[in-house]
Amino acid sequence: MKVRRKALLEATQWNKLGDHPEVIQYIQDDQEETCIECGKPSADHGQLIFFEFKVCPGSWIIEAEEKQAMVFSQDAFDRMFEVVE
Ligand SMILES: [Zn+2]
Repeated sequence: MKVRRKALLEATQWNKLGDHPEVIQYIQDDQEETCIECGKPSADHGQLIFFEFKVCPGSWIIEAEEKQAMVFSQDAFDRMFEVVE
């Protein structure tokens, strides 16, 4: 059986600091000047406040009802969500 989630979720595309209150400056590892996932400079990244999850520029921040933010790449966002309003 396949199911589709009914809840409306708040989605914000993150590109820079200030775009979402739960994303802070990425705490950079000196070894990692560019991101292995997106190829952009590590300095252009953020991370979630509550757990250290890196946020690439262009990623989507999704807030569920319980207000825990999650991060999705553009590709994952397109596969998992549809825009309804
Ligand atoms: Zn990246």
